Amino acid sequence: MTNLRNKVAIVTGAASGIGREVALKYAEAGAQVVVSDIDEAGGNDTVVLIKKAGGEAIFVQADVSSAADNERLVNETLITYGALHIACNNAGIGGPQGPVGEYPIDGWDKVIGINLSGVFYGMRYQIPAMLKSGGGAVVNIASILGQAGTPGSSAYVAAKHGVVGLTKSAALEYSAQGIRVNSVGPGYIKTPLLTKNLTDDVIQSLVALHPIGRLGEASEVAELVFWLSSDNASFVTGAYYAVDGGYLAQ
Ligand code: NAP
Repeated sequence: MTNLRNKVAIVTGAASGIGREVALKYAEAGAQVVVSDIDEAGGNDTVVLIKKAGGEAIFVQADVSSAADNERLVNETLITYGALHIACNNAGIGGPQGPVGEYPIDGWDKVIGINLSGVFYGMRYQIPAMLKSGGGAVVNIASILGQAGTPGSSAYVAAKHGVVGLTKSAALEYSAQGIRVNSVGPGYIKTPLLTKNLTDDVIQSLVALHPIGRLGEASEVAELVFWLSSDNASFVTGAYYAVDGGYLAQ
């Protein structure tokens, strides 16, 4: 397996779902992992899982929609592990459902604050730390809805399209300085984000949208994130990679 020994990684939204699987994967490959989330109990559970598997991790509670929390997250990473090489900006929410003409203003602000500004604030503090650490790799979690629209989720769709564009700009700015920046677009994945918020009937209707005939697993997204974070992806930057069971090929 590709080795992340001597690498320090931050994963946001790592108390649950995709973020937890990414954190476990990084740690399994030997990285020192900073597990971050607003959910303290879930974040600590991820750290326990990593340690039980023989890995190294700490938990730092942070709200990605706060610039100050992102700055503190990077500072605590540097204090504990002395460097930063990898960041997976993954924390995100679904947000309210409704047409644009009726969409709740506070819901719009919250989704943009977490799903888009959260990624910017993350990179705003991660990139200077990576430059001082000799380079690195950022993977931002977008969505199939970073490439295509869907009715009822305008804030989510706008935020995820924004993440794809932000990723390209950051990649162009830092590729010559040894930092690669890519985005990943999962199809619908079986995580609490879906299962907490949607009925079984709606989940079954989502299955039908994927030519592969099922929803994805968080571990399948983590495989792609892991590869993009590793030196095996050394010529890959500014790209959007789908992991979507064929959703966007239609
Ligand atoms: P998840 O299981 O709900 O995990 C997301 C984690 O982020 C949760 O622990 C959540 O805490 C945390 N979080 C929420 N707001 C936060 C904030 N302001 N600051 C820090 N952490 C926060 O969701 P997931 O499905 O793994 O989603 C991870 C990412 O994948 C998101 O960006 C999502 O948009 C993207 N994605 C998911 C799917 C899918 O179908 N699941 C598809 C495409 C893209 P709480 O539980 O306390 O809210």
